Amino acid sequence: MQKTLSTLIELQEIDNRLDELREERGDLPDIVEGLRAKYSNKERTKNSLEETVEEMQKRSSELNRLIQEAKDKLAEENERLYQVKTNKEYDAITVEIETLQSNLTSYEKEVTTLSVSIDEKMTELTKIDTELAEIKKELDENEDELKERLSETEVEEKELLKSREAIVKDFDEEILADYEIVREARSGQGVAIVQDGHCGGCYSYIPPQKVVEIRKQKKIYTCEFCGRILVWEDK
Ligand SMILES: [Zn+2]
Repeated sequence: MQKTLSTLIELQEIDNRLDELREERGDLPDIVEGLRAKYSNKERTKNSLEETVEEMQKRSSELNRLIQEAKDKLAEENERLYQVKTNKEYDAITVEIETLQSNLTSYEKEVTTLSVSIDEKMTELTKIDTELAEIKKELDENEDELKERLSETEVEEKELLKSREAIVKDFDEEILADYEIVREARSGQGVAIVQDGHCGGCYSYIPPQKVVEIRKQKKIYTCEFCGRILVWEDK
């Protein structure tokens, strides 16, 4: 048990240092992740907008073709009007001309509306490009900064994680689970060293009889107030 307790102290020290390293990186990993998500969201918006514009342009050239066709047809029909021989023929051509004219008007209306929409979407796309460039710049800066900080601490972190792995592998699962739970709840501190009859974590009083028991290191004792595993450290 004595071994278990001293290993726990060791584990706590490793975890403290790991927390410290993570603290040093601060919000940077979150910031970088957030910016990446923001960038790809905006990129998606851009892509779908580009697809829409492409569709609109396709429709626009189709309409221009239809407009030209209708105009040609109108010119032909107008020409034929001069050569008609019967009233019936005249009426038929007039109806045809009216239909062509009405189609032409609706094509032209649609093409104008489309052109306004395309212009609007193009303006939006330019705006998105500017925003993308801004996000990219911010992302690059933060990524560089993060990389720099990581490279400073990477080796140490890897070693700490390796040591932690080695400890945890053979450690009593139940004690480890308790340690993790308290650590989670007590801002990273799952173990407290007894200091002058008090819990080193929350400074609560520990009755002398219990201090004696803890000192024997035969069993796991936890602080009644904060739940931390109490350990004895010879000075
Ligand atoms: Zn305590």
